[in-house]
Amino acid sequence: MTRLEQLTDAIAHYHPAADLELVRRSYEFAAKAHEGQTRRSGDPYVTHPLAVAQIIAELKLDLASVCAGLLHDAVEDTSATVEQLTELFGKEIAFLVDGVTKLGKLPWSTREEQQAENFRKMLLAMAKDIRVILVKLCDRLDNMRSLDHLPPEKQERIAAETMQIYAPLANRLGIQWVKIELEDLAFKYLHAGEYEQLASEVAKTRRERLDYITAVEGLILHEMKAAGVTCEVQGRAKHLWSIHQKMKKTGRPFEEIHDAIGFRVITDSEMSCYHALGVAHQKWTPIPGRFKDYIALPKPNMYQSLHTAVIGPHGERIEIQIRTQSQHLVAEQGIAAHWKYKEGRPVTGGDDDKKFAWLRQLMEHQKELRDPTEFLETVKIDLFGDEVYVFTPQGDVKALPKGACPIDFAYAVHSTIGDHCSGARVNGMIVPLRYQLRNGDTIEIITNPNQKPNKDWLKLVKTARARSKIRSLLRKEQRDRAMSLGRDLLEKAMRRHDLSLQKLEKSGELDVVGKELRTGIGEELILQVGYGKVTTQQVVDKLVPAGGGKTAAVAEKSEGILKNLLKKVTRRTSTTGIKVQGEDDILVRFARCCSPLPGDPIVGFITRGRGVTVHRRDCDKGLDLDPDRRIDVEWDGRAKGSHEVAIQVLCADKPGLLAHISQSFTDQGVNITQAHCRATEDGRAVNTFRAAVKDLEQLKSVIRQLSRIKGVYSVDRVAADTL
Ligand code: MN
Repeated sequence: MTRLEQLTDAIAHYHPAADLELVRRSYEFAAKAHEGQTRRSGDPYVTHPLAVAQIIAELKLDLASVCAGLLHDAVEDTSATVEQLTELFGKEIAFLVDGVTKLGKLPWSTREEQQAENFRKMLLAMAKDIRVILVKLCDRLDNMRSLDHLPPEKQERIAAETMQIYAPLANRLGIQWVKIELEDLAFKYLHAGEYEQLASEVAKTRRERLDYITAVEGLILHEMKAAGVTCEVQGRAKHLWSIHQKMKKTGRPFEEIHDAIGFRVITDSEMSCYHALGVAHQKWTPIPGRFKDYIALPKPNMYQSLHTAVIGPHGERIEIQIRTQSQHLVAEQGIAAHWKYKEGRPVTGGDDDKKFAWLRQLMEHQKELRDPTEFLETVKIDLFGDEVYVFTPQGDVKALPKGACPIDFAYAVHSTIGDHCSGARVNGMIVPLRYQLRNGDTIEIITNPNQKPNKDWLKLVKTARARSKIRSLLRKEQRDRAMSLGRDLLEKAMRRHDLSLQKLEKSGELDVVGKELRTGIGEELILQVGYGKVTTQQVVDKLVPAGGGKTAAVAEKSEGILKNLLKKVTRRTSTTGIKVQGEDDILVRFARCCSPLPGDPIVGFITRGRGVTVHRRDCDKGLDLDPDRRIDVEWDGRAKGSHEVAIQVLCADKPGLLAHISQSFTDQGVNITQAHCRATEDGRAVNTFRAAVKDLEQLKSVIRQLSRIKGVYSVDRVAADTL
């Protein structure tokens, strides 16, 4: 069977009435368009779109998606055009291909802003037609499967992106098997050493595990049958990445991760699910706090199941998920299940809206966020974080990210409630605003008309909505303050020169000054004075001919809100390697918390009397700082010298390993300036090194080399003040 036949077979299987001729035509078009192109592996290029279409068919998506999969690289890499595709294959397919092409054209760069921008476009595309994202996910899956043929730097970049964006996206869309495969593939390329080690340990115990799974499956099935529950029981080993995460979280070696196997009970009705749960809890002791009812309270990605963990037959922990057949389908395929063919027509429906409510909410926030980095930072939490489910006093459910506080809840209910939120009652008890909401809490918000959001709230909230509302209100307040301060200062300065601010405004003279000083006209100039970006003296100089006016010492001190905090220090050459808004002679220091390296995305904050402090963009401390003190900074590219970073290496506590590790630093010309090594009780060693590196590239290569050493479990860059 050719691979094309394999594809058409798969489609005919779930969609008997499908127009397979259209699939063949799409394939032929792609084959012709990509003629002469090869993949890195040496295979003809068309094998890639074909593989992508096969994955799409595995998801049982509609015909347009499959054809779009076949054609997805045609516009990007060949001379084919969207118009041509519209003519040959119709509007729908052409639209999908165009969407995928546009997504692919946005190179994911290390610059966070650009990444944020891409992300935003991805969401926009998603809101228009979720199939664009589904095709893109399948494209990424095939790319990850054939990553072996690319050079190591590319592997790492693509794998990192997959771990950061695509796997969580698959998760959020509820497509479990794609998420799992993406995570394990990314794991393999990101932490090769740890991956190999774990994979071999898992392989070694395979026989044992299979026996165990069969035994427990039989046991569960027996109990269920005895109680009259009709069901199917499946046991399966968890995927490597999730075992790895668990090992890291608990600090335990693989042998001690007992719940690496999960069991599923699939029943014929919801009622049977609860029945099955009762049977399990009666037979085996449930572990407190592990029971979750996602059947009554589905996750926003439509997932439904009962989760529990019990003490199993041999005293070990067993995780059990209980759900119906149709819930199982949604659990595996997520949103893709929604696009399936049923009786020959695509299942789309009026309830789309409800199911994709979270998507709509995201789109709503992004309108309010002007700063793309801010957008990314907040949306990541909404999209990828865990959720808690809480209730309004009326019994409505709100899903909020884990760690959310009453303020988040208040904004989720209504923005005016958020703005005036002064306290909260949780399950009838007064709690502080920093209280972290828990599943099942009933929350009543106490409002006070005099209450206003303050900066500390930003540290508490977790949702994009609350954050953007608070920020925009704070910004407005800041602006109002700057405006009245600017007006005050200008009025005083004008008076000293027998001028009237009001008259100058009316006559338009102030606008002329605004234009000359390039601050913008009207109130903008006054605002700039308030912010300290322009001094009153500069304004006076424009209005009063040189020498004609009094050069009274203006009360500059009180203007010191922003820019004039910068103390320029004249240096012959730039030694920091940082440009602040294009200038390189400004006093700069690097934040100790995150110690940025050339190559890291960075952001500056104006610090009173100390110039500009540079943080990494993703530094928590940086995010806490006043956004109004934020200033654009960039590496000037000619930066020389070295920067201190801290690297933590977790490894086996074996003789000789430390020497091996330090040799690896030396081999790469990197100097260790400080080291701290400590053995843990479980036979591991935690080593923290402070080392001087040139830039991010060098650090990455050090980390790569260290990860390859046998016996090294993990290598992480840590906060420099760890030592
Ligand atoms: Mn592709």
